[in-house]
Amino acid sequence: MTEVALRNLCKTYPGADKAVVDDISLHIKSGSLTALLGPSGSGKSTILKMIAGLLFPTSGDILVGGHSVLSLPPEKRDIVLIFQDNLLFPYLSVAENIGFGLRMRRRPKAEIADAVHAIMNLMQIRGLEKRKPFELSGGQQQRVALARALVLRPRLLLLDEPFSNLDASLRLEMQSLLKELHRETGTTMLFVTHDQSEAVRLADRIALIFHGQLRQYDAPDAFYNRPHDRSVAEFFGGRNFIDGTLKEDHFECALGHLKMPADTPSHGSILTFRPENIIIGETSSATNRITAILEGRQFLGERTILHLRCGPAMFEAYSSPLAAASYVIGQPLSVCLPPDSLWLLP
Ligand code: ADP
Repeated sequence: MTEVALRNLCKTYPGADKAVVDDISLHIKSGSLTALLGPSGSGKSTILKMIAGLLFPTSGDILVGGHSVLSLPPEKRDIVLIFQDNLLFPYLSVAENIGFGLRMRRRPKAEIADAVHAIMNLMQIRGLEKRKPFELSGGQQQRVALARALVLRPRLLLLDEPFSNLDASLRLEMQSLLKELHRETGTTMLFVTHDQSEAVRLADRIALIFHGQLRQYDAPDAFYNRPHDRSVAEFFGGRNFIDGTLKEDHFECALGHLKMPADTPSHGSILTFRPENIIIGETSSATNRITAILEGRQFLGERTILHLRCGPAMFEAYSSPLAAASYVIGQPLSVCLPPDSLWLLP
């Protein structure tokens, strides 16, 4: 079992007056694929480097498989860290690059050959054994770098912005591959990204970090439907925020008296909801049905944003481009806000 626990982890770089990792506690389940997500400079890489043993924490503890690893040097932690510009050894062939770590561990030759063969099959790079890194495409180099890490069967694989140098289509391909490798190997994986769509696509759970502090640790859908605060909602593209007052069984605001979900936090005073969850036009449900005026629209290709007004409140909803084109600016539209799509922020 390779669960990972960060306990009150702090890091202040020498000479700096502020912590870049500020009291982070996190429990990562064995066999999970977890994202450390946050804007650039929020301390994500510093956390990975401390787990890998390249940096020592200022305070706090890191437990892997239930035991503190702080007294272990990096090579004794059985953890592999991959960076975005994974440097392959230029003079070694692909097979030699992949087998390098096992040779360092003085494994028998036949065992190394078998392991390299198996991992190359898994990564779908058979046939490239004899090539040198400069004879590979960017995607193939990424696969070799992943193979070189996975062949060591580490108990924990750390990836620091592994795909951020790749173009969009290759990036999607590598993301699918990583997800598949995770399923097939069951290795506990923790990756750093600043891209929320990458975190959502890949991770079982996301740890969102702002300024070195953990803001929310949840399954991806919770960041859309149950964000902890406005900054979390905004980081995930939230646009609709409407002030009001929570009464016993409804929320009173410029949109009217809205029925709220059963788990509504009692301390909230800002209503938020996702533009993709709003239903425009007639539906069978009469709950939370309001009339809004279409003030404008913005064509985005696969969808159109409708800018709607209800009394003094403005909000956005998504529509299919075809339906949106049939609406007239200034037209009143019937809009339904399903109670489960509503959420309150402090
Ligand atoms: P992220 O991975 O979220 O982009 P980092 O962990 O790389 O963030 O950096 C967090 C902060 O720590 C940044 O302000 C960065 O400039 C600073 N930092 C990173 N490495 C060092 C270092 N070796 N010495 C001093 N400051 C550093």
